[in-house]
Amino acid sequence: MDSTTCPLCDLPRTPADAAGLAWSSQHERDGSLAWICPTCTRAELWRIETLLAVTAPVAAAPLRRAA
Ligand SMILES: [Zn+2]
Repeated sequence: MDSTTCPLCDLPRTPADAAGLAWSSQHERDGSLAWICPTCTRAELWRIETLLAVTAPVAAAPLRRAA
């Protein structure tokens, strides 16, 4: 079954999103299909275009905001 949330930010993919073209699909190594939300698509576009795995945890740990 295809995932129904963005693997990067867990944004749920709605039927309206499925009808649009804003989400980008990515085939995972295990053959499943992942859908990347528009925000993450823009953020990870360079990675998608270079065919690198978008879901690989290669990003540095997020900076913590000072309280
Ligand atoms: Zn996302």
